[in-house]
Amino acid sequence: MITYYGYTDGSGEYYIVIDAERCNSCEDCIKVCPQQALQMEDMFIDLEDKPVAAVTEEHRKKIRYTCSPCKPEDGNVPCVSACKLEAIKCIWKPK
Ligand code: SF4
Ligand code: SF4
Repeated sequence: MITYYGYTDGSGEYYIVIDAERCNSCEDCIKVCPQQALQMEDMFIDLEDKPVAAVTEEHRKKIRYTCSPCKPEDGNVPCVSACKLEAIKCIWKPK
């Protein structure tokens, strides 16, 4: 299951995308996020609950402002760089 956290509005597209099947619950992305915007959440996958990285409820609706200091427009951001399994991506398309 792939979850898109973020939104598209008149100013562009802003998402943190997490692939629950790929995520191995290592928490490396959580440790490097300077905004404490990530947490583990249990998801029901392959008939069992598995802890998977997720954007916190608080940051989902303001992801553009939360993630801007990481400068996604310049390429990789800390959470994406930390993930060895390519389970987390950042989509950043300001107009
Ligand atoms: S670094 Fe990758 S594998 Fe580890 S918790 Fe984050 S998304 Fe999951
Ligand atoms: S882009 Fe930066 S602020 Fe946003 S989730 Fe990743 S590490 Fe945290």
